[in-house]
Amino acid sequence: MNLEPSDDQRMLREMLSRALERSSPPARIRLLEDAGHDAECWQAFVEMGLPLLRVAEAHGGAGASLMDAVVIAETIGAFLPLIPAVEVVVAARLLGALTGGADGVAEGEIVTLALADATRAGARPVVGAPVAGRILFRCGDAVRVVHGPFGANEANTGSLATAHVPLGPDVGAVVASGPQALAAFNAALEEWKLLTAAAMAAAARRSVGLAADYAKEREAFGQPIGSYQGLAHPLAEASVDVDGAALLVWRTVERIAQGHAAAGAMVSMAFWWAAKAARGATVRAMRVFGGYGMTLEYDAQLYFRRVNGWALAAGNPDAELARAAQRLWQGAAADLPDAGELSITFEFPASSQEAAAKIRAVMAEHVTPERARWQYESNDFFDKVLFKKLAERNLLFPDWPVALGGGGYDAFSCAAIRDVFADYDWDGVIVNIADMLGKMLMRFGSERAKAEILPKLAAGETFATLGYSEPSCGSDIFGARTRAVRAKGDEGDEWVIDGQKMFTSHGHMADYVILLTRTGESKHGGITLFAMPTSLPGYRCHEIKTVGGERTNTTFYDGVRLHDDYRLGEVNGGAKVLATLLALEQGAGDHFVGPLRAMLEAALEWAAQPDLVGVVPLDTLAAQLTLATVAARLEVADVLNRRASEAFGHGRPAKHFGPSTKLFASEAWLSCSADLVALAAPESVFQAFTPLGRIERHLRRAVPSTVYAGTSEVQRSIIAEAGLGLPRTRA
Ligand SMILES: Cc1cc2nc3c(=O)[nH]c(=O)nc-3n(C[C@H](O)[C@H](O)[C@H](O)COP(=O)(O)OP(=O)(O)OC[C@H]3O[C@@H](n4cnc5c(N)ncnc54)[C@H](O)[C@@H]3O)c2cc1C
Repeated sequence: MNLEPSDDQRMLREMLSRALERSSPPARIRLLEDAGHDAECWQAFVEMGLPLLRVAEAHGGAGASLMDAVVIAETIGAFLPLIPAVEVVVAARLLGALTGGADGVAEGEIVTLALADATRAGARPVVGAPVAGRILFRCGDAVRVVHGPFGANEANTGSLATAHVPLGPDVGAVVASGPQALAAFNAALEEWKLLTAAAMAAAARRSVGLAADYAKEREAFGQPIGSYQGLAHPLAEASVDVDGAALLVWRTVERIAQGHAAAGAMVSMAFWWAAKAARGATVRAMRVFGGYGMTLEYDAQLYFRRVNGWALAAGNPDAELARAAQRLWQGAAADLPDAGELSITFEFPASSQEAAAKIRAVMAEHVTPERARWQYESNDFFDKVLFKKLAERNLLFPDWPVALGGGGYDAFSCAAIRDVFADYDWDGVIVNIADMLGKMLMRFGSERAKAEILPKLAAGETFATLGYSEPSCGSDIFGARTRAVRAKGDEGDEWVIDGQKMFTSHGHMADYVILLTRTGESKHGGITLFAMPTSLPGYRCHEIKTVGGERTNTTFYDGVRLHDDYRLGEVNGGAKVLATLLALEQGAGDHFVGPLRAMLEAALEWAAQPDLVGVVPLDTLAAQLTLATVAARLEVADVLNRRASEAFGHGRPAKHFGPSTKLFASEAWLSCSADLVALAAPESVFQAFTPLGRIERHLRRAVPSTVYAGTSEVQRSIIAEAGLGLPRTRA
C-alpha cells in the first residue's frame, strides 16, 4: 500500500508548478481570459516537452505513464493556465498511435480532439479549436482529421479556448478506420475524462484551500469567519468530497493497470464524482469570500468557472453515471488507455494479504446461509464462535506480536482483515474494541493487568466495550462526570467509581469496559482511563433498543472498587490515552464500506427481478442512475478508507483522514439507503429478510451511524480544524 507518487512524479509536479507560478499567475489568467489562450505559457509547456508526454517512445514521445499524466493534469488544475493541456496530451498520443508519429506537436502545434461523435454532420464545440492546427474526430467507423485555422474563440463559462467547428463525413480526411482505430479514439476519450477529473479535483482542492486561508484572516462579528460552523462545516465536507475525487482518479488508474473488470466503469464514476464534487466545492469556496468572491478580481470565481467549463465540455456529466451502470451491469465494454508503470497502490502489502487470505478461508467455511441469517437477526452481532476460530489460528489480532498470541503481521493487517469482514458484511466492532484494549494495555497498562487480560483477549475469550458517553455528554467527551476517587482497599491502592454511562454497546457481554472517569477538576487534565472488569460488584447494565435494531446499554457504577493496577496511563493523563484510542479506532479501517457494499448487493438482487408488470428495474434509467450513484459513493468511501489505512500503516496517521472516511461513508450510507428505499417504494417499507427488507434496515441502521463514534457535526469540526487549519470551535 503506497499513496505517495514516485520521485520522478514529484519532480515533474514541482517543475511544472514552478513554471506555471512564473508564467501563469492569476492576474495574467484574468488578462487573457477573453482570448482563452496564453501563447507564452503554451510555449513554456512545449519547452518542457509535455505535449509529447504520453506519446509512445516508438512514436517519438516520452512514453510516460497514465499516472504521470494525472500528476500533470492535477498541476494544471491547481494553476488553471489558459492552455489546452489535457486535450493536447491526449490527442498527441492518439495521433502517434494512429499515424506512427506526432509531427509538429514537438514544435508547438496544438492538436486537439472533438469530444462528441461527428457521424452526423454539424458544428460542434471543440476545446482548443481557436488555436489548434488540427482536430481529430470520430465519424462512423473512422477517425478523421481536419486542419485549421478554425473559428475565433467564443466566450464561455470556463474561458477555455473553444469554437464551434463543422465536422462530419465530408470534412477533412480519414486518418485511420476500423475497430482498432475506433478503440484508440475511444481510449483517448476515456483518458481525457480521467485527466480532466484529476484537473477538476485539484482545482477544487486549491479553491477550498484558498477559502480556508481567507476564513482564518477575515473577521465578522469580532471573530475569524472560519470559527463559524455554518461556513467551516460545508467547507470541510467539500474538502472531503474533492479528496475523494482525487483518490478515485488514482484508484481508477490502478484498476486500469490491473486490467480490472470494473476499470471502465471506474473512469465514468471518477469523472461523474469529480464533476459533482468540484462544482459543489468551488461554489462553497466562493461563498466564503462573501461579496468579494463574486468579483472578477478574486480568484475564487476563476476556479468555479473553469471547473464548470471542464465538467460540461463533453456534455451532462450525469450521463457518465448511466454509462457506469451500463458498464457495470449491462455488459457494455470500454476501450481504455494503457496505464504504463505505476508506483502507487491501494492494495494491502503481501504480508497483510496473506493474513487476509487466511481469514477469508475461515470466513468462507464459517459463513453459511444460516449463519448469515443469524448475524442479520442478531442485535449485538457477537459471533463468539467465529472469534474463537480466528483466535485459535492467531488471526484475531493479526498485528499483535506472536508471543502475545497475535499473528506477527504488519501494521496494515488490521485494515486488511476489516476488508474481509466488510466483504461478508460481518460486524467486527467488538473485536476492534478488544484490539484497542489490548494495544492500550501493551502501551499504558500495569504488568498485572497485562498478565491477566492479554492472554484471555488473545484466546478470544474476553471482549471489551467503550464507556465514554454519559447521560449529560457524548460529543463533549471531556465533560464526563463519572467519578473515580482514590481509596485504601484490602489489596492496597484502589479507586471508588460512581456514575452512569450511556450507550455502552456490548456492555452486557463485555468482560472489561474501557472506562473514562473524572479524577480532577480541570476539564481536559482531570480525566483518567481504566480497563475495568465488568464482574466487579456495583456494575449494572440495562438494555436500550435503537431504531436500527441494534442493542446498546446504559451502565451504572455504584461504588465500584477498582484496583489501581487497572489504570491506563497516568492519573489525570486520560487525554493522551484517549488520543491514542481515537487514532486506533479511526485508522483501523472498514468505516461502513461493508454495509455500503452489502446494501448495493441487496439492491442489485432486487433490481434484477421483474416487478409485477414484468419490468426489470435494472433496465430502467431511474434504477441505473440510483444504483450507479451508490456504486460510485461506495468507491469514494473505499478510497478514503484506504487512505486512512495507508497513513496509519506507515505510522503517519493524519488526524483528519479517519474522520473524513467516517463522515463520508456514514452520510453516503444514509443518503444512498434513502434513495434506494424511495426507488423501490412502496414494497421497500416492509421489514423482512428479503433484498428489499435488508435495504429498509440499512436505512434505519445508517441514521445512528452518523451519530455514534463521533457525530457528523463533530467529524466536520475535526476536518475543518485538522485538515483545513480553521479555528477550533469546541472548548
Ligand atoms: C447505537 C449507538 C451506539 C453507541 N455506542 C457507544 C459506545 O459503545 N460507547 C460510548 O461511549 N458511546 C456510544 N454511543 C454514544 C455516541 O458516541 C454519542 O451518542 C455521540 O457521541 C453523541 O453524543 P450525545 O448522544 O450525547 O449527543 P450530543 O453530544 O448531546 O449532541 C447532540 C447534537 O448536537 C450536536 N453537537 C454536539 N456538539 C456539537 C458541536 N461542537 N458542534 C456542532 N454540533 C454539535 C451533535 O452532532 C448532535 O447532533 C453510541 C450511540 C449510539 C446511537
